[in-house]
Amino acid sequence: MSQTITEPAREIDVIHRTDVLVVGSGPGGLAAALAAARTGVAVTLLERFGCFGGNITAVGVEGFAWYRHAETVEAGGIGWEFEERAKAMDAATPESQSLSYELDAEGFKLVADQLIEEAGIHPMLHRMYVAPLREGKRITGVIVESKAGREAILAKRVIDATGDADIARMMGAPTIKTPVEEMQAASVMFHIAGVDKQKFMEGVKADPQTYKDWSTGEWQVETSGKEDDMFSPFLAKPFAQALKDGLIPAHLNTIGGTWGAVHDSGEMTYMNLVHLAGCDGTDPDSMTRFEIEGRKQAMHAINALKYYTPGCGGARLRNFGMTIGIRDTRKLDAQYNMTEADVREQGRFDDSIGIYPEFIDGYGVLILPTTGRYMQIPYRAMLPKQVEGLLVTGRAIGGDRIAHAATRNMACCAVAGQGAGIAAALSVKADCALDSLAISEVQTELKRQGVRIA
Ligand SMILES: Cc1cc2nc3c(=O)[nH]c(=O)nc-3n(C[C@H](O)[C@H](O)[C@H](O)COP(=O)(O)OP(=O)(O)OC[C@H]3O[C@@H](n4cnc5c(N)ncnc54)[C@H](O)[C@@H]3O)c2cc1C
Repeated sequence: MSQTITEPAREIDVIHRTDVLVVGSGPGGLAAALAAARTGVAVTLLERFGCFGGNITAVGVEGFAWYRHAETVEAGGIGWEFEERAKAMDAATPESQSLSYELDAEGFKLVADQLIEEAGIHPMLHRMYVAPLREGKRITGVIVESKAGREAILAKRVIDATGDADIARMMGAPTIKTPVEEMQAASVMFHIAGVDKQKFMEGVKADPQTYKDWSTGEWQVETSGKEDDMFSPFLAKPFAQALKDGLIPAHLNTIGGTWGAVHDSGEMTYMNLVHLAGCDGTDPDSMTRFEIEGRKQAMHAINALKYYTPGCGGARLRNFGMTIGIRDTRKLDAQYNMTEADVREQGRFDDSIGIYPEFIDGYGVLILPTTGRYMQIPYRAMLPKQVEGLLVTGRAIGGDRIAHAATRNMACCAVAGQGAGIAAALSVKADCALDSLAISEVQTELKRQGVRIA
């Protein structure tokens, strides 16, 4: 039986004031904060966990640019810088299927700290955004909760980089939530240790897997055809064998996916093998159930690897991501919602804030940017309806399902983030509303910051 109580009103301290407040520090929020600070305003980056980096660091998603091939056209900018800085700080390893580097989930915590410090951003970890502050339609700051209790932060502009459009929704902007049964699966990510790298790689070479192999059993993946015979660091056979031999319970026929990096030290990281359909990343009860279920499934996966994968006989769990990985929840119903045609047919926009190569990965589609094709990202996809002073960036920008399969990718979140950060900063400097900004000025600053927009 549902019951409600009325929470008494109370006075809370204003603990901080800033020009631009970015809430959430994944590739979208981190890029937004850096870009805004480099545009010359006071910036605060708020994050509920103890590290910046979002899915990269908190979940262990290390494949930042595994789409990259010889002909791939890149946006440059802060996404590119993430990889370069990670390489320079020994926090990246060459990626097996592409011309890119895997970010090191732990090392990237230090990369983010350093970038934030250099840009003069005010860092705020361990505080959770819980509610917006408003004057009419305008957001004026946020309420946070932490060990210090409930506190207020005032800001001239707010960027919602929570991944779930939490702030936009609470401000009353229209958002669209994918029905739970259609959401992309969540994953409990894990890293293992004790792998004999040489033997493992010999096994991979003896039986190389391709993207065509993704279409087995439960999954059917549409490609453009050119992907089919390309190498993929894919693992399915050990789990099929384990099912057959009764080592994995019969209902766990969804275990399988990709391995990330295998290190000389015997660690194998970014194990993307557990796929949890039906997990609602906006419902803590659902997330609780699937965190626990995901950990069980990960241990079944490791057991199967030990038995059936060369070099993995001595494998053991090293760590789980510190939180379940959520791919798909709520998106902004933005002033412009990107479409499947935009991402499949090289969408072009006058208000482009950056480009992203033709990389679609999700909802049963995999298209890799092995040609020079690319799309532009429109500023309006980050502009909410009915709310002022707020931009939404990262994976929650406006778009349909297949558009999201492209824009959710981390390097694309960084493109959107950089555009949002610059726009927010310029609107503070010009004392102008976010929807009346001269886009040419945003584009000029983007170019100054090394972003390709056309
Ligand atoms: C398992 C998995 C594998 C993936 N694999 C790949 C891949 O190989 N390549 C790729 O490009 N993409 C991949 N993705 C997608 C990609 O990781 C995400 O789409 C991307 O990280 C989204 O970036 P973001 O900045 O929007 O949000 P996130 O990275 O989700 O960051 C959001 C941040 O906001 C913080 N936050 C949320 N709510 C609050 C609050 N109330 N108060 C304070 N802070 C808050 C969170 O703690 C988090 O740090 C994967 C995703 C998952 C889950």
